[in-house]
Amino acid sequence: MRNAADYGLEAVEPRFRFRALMTRVNDIIRAIEPADSVERYTGLGVDVRLGFARIVDPWTVEIDGGERLTTRSIVIAAGGEPRVPDIPGLEEAGYLTSDTMWETLSGYDELPRRIVIVGGGPIGTEMAQAFARLGAEVTQVEHGPRILPREDEEVSAQITQVLRAEGVTVLTGHEAIRCEGKALITRSGEQERRVAFDEIIVAVGRNARLTGYGLEELGIPTERTVVTNDYLETLYPNIFAAGDVAGPYEFTHFAAHQAWYAAVNALFGTFRKFRVDYSVLPWVTYTEPEVAHVGLSEATAKEAGTAYEIVRYELAHLDRALTESASRGFVKLLVQPGNDRILGATIVAHNAGETLAEFVLAMKHGLGLNKVLGTIHAYPTMAEANKYAAGEWKKAHKPERILRWLERYHSWRRG
Ligand SMILES: Cc1cc2nc3c(=O)[nH]c(=O)nc-3n(C[C@H](O)[C@H](O)[C@H](O)COP(=O)(O)OP(=O)(O)OC[C@H]3O[C@@H](n4cnc5c(N)ncnc54)[C@H](O)[C@@H]3O)c2cc1C
Repeated sequence: MRNAADYGLEAVEPRFRFRALMTRVNDIIRAIEPADSVERYTGLGVDVRLGFARIVDPWTVEIDGGERLTTRSIVIAAGGEPRVPDIPGLEEAGYLTSDTMWETLSGYDELPRRIVIVGGGPIGTEMAQAFARLGAEVTQVEHGPRILPREDEEVSAQITQVLRAEGVTVLTGHEAIRCEGKALITRSGEQERRVAFDEIIVAVGRNARLTGYGLEELGIPTERTVVTNDYLETLYPNIFAAGDVAGPYEFTHFAAHQAWYAAVNALFGTFRKFRVDYSVLPWVTYTEPEVAHVGLSEATAKEAGTAYEIVRYELAHLDRALTESASRGFVKLLVQPGNDRILGATIVAHNAGETLAEFVLAMKHGLGLNKVLGTIHAYPTMAEANKYAAGEWKKAHKPERILRWLERYHSWRRG
């Protein structure tokens, strides 16, 4: 609504009731919930018990200190919980996390006016933008040199610029050192800064749940997560781990991917075991524009010593992006030198998560950029950016000798 003028409409400051907005959020959560409900899983043939599980020996799980179930295999899928940094005064100030925030905010009539978000990862960044767009004064504090550190530097830079343009105070290189009442004191070098807030949201990452349900007693090794091998087996070959508790990534689709391996290896491991394939893992950060990524980034390619070429296509040239007034962003590909194999893709764009799917499919099934280029993409769509990126690669590798020869041939034909 604020950007309505971009579309030839009159820009207006949105008016809304915060409660109505949170009602919508909660309605959507309720609409999604049945997919993960006890009823659905019972219907699928799962014997679902609600209670606290503790592994008492490698073949026995105890529920709420009472009933004991015996089993051939166990899958640990205990997830994680928000990490809360040791910031003096934080407890007294009262903080929210991505777990508690929804319920607390649902009880408010108004959006808190001043919000501090500690953490520059995807959750902190998504929240910073969302709250700023709803009209809060948002300060995002990140101790590292940039937000979204898993992405390439230019991505972090672009999203930082977008957030700043929308009014978020992004403080990178700032350590959150203490709270004084309802104010956070940050330090950058020698400089201290005081940021007053009505709510402080801690989003500095999540810890795998590793204690209190039997891992220690059984001596199952844990580091940042439960230690597993390539088959997701723990120290005990019949005890598997999957999802946030197993890592190394924390995504719903990653948890589901691992769950397949854990379940299949548990059921059929005697005959054949499957090694988890992590090679083509997409993820999306739901800012606007979205950041969608799969495979290698420049940083991970350098780390792994993998040679790569970069191909870029700017959305500023894409018809659909221009018609949508959504032309900030790009498609960036890492390609294997000497052939058209896609090693990684990053898309910064409106709905980038949808557009990325083509590269995820291509990478998973070994389709190179020639195949993307040879595919008809409907005009005008955002997905055409993928084809044009493939076209950029082709242009950089055009067969100069043959083209020169063809040029001579056609000028000869013209006479
Ligand atoms: C704010 C936020 C936004 C996110 N956004 C995205 C996103 O956009 N896309 C995405 O892919 N991922 C996202 N994630 C990550 C995603 O939610 C997790 O990766 C995913 O939920 C992991 O699934 P899981 O089954 O491993 O763990 P969880 O979903 O955490 O489930 C673990 C369950 O085990 C239960 N449990 C733990 N211990 C015991 C015990 N001893 N006995 C019985 N039960 C136990 C817990 O109560 C919990 O219900 C987001 C996470 C957060 C916090």
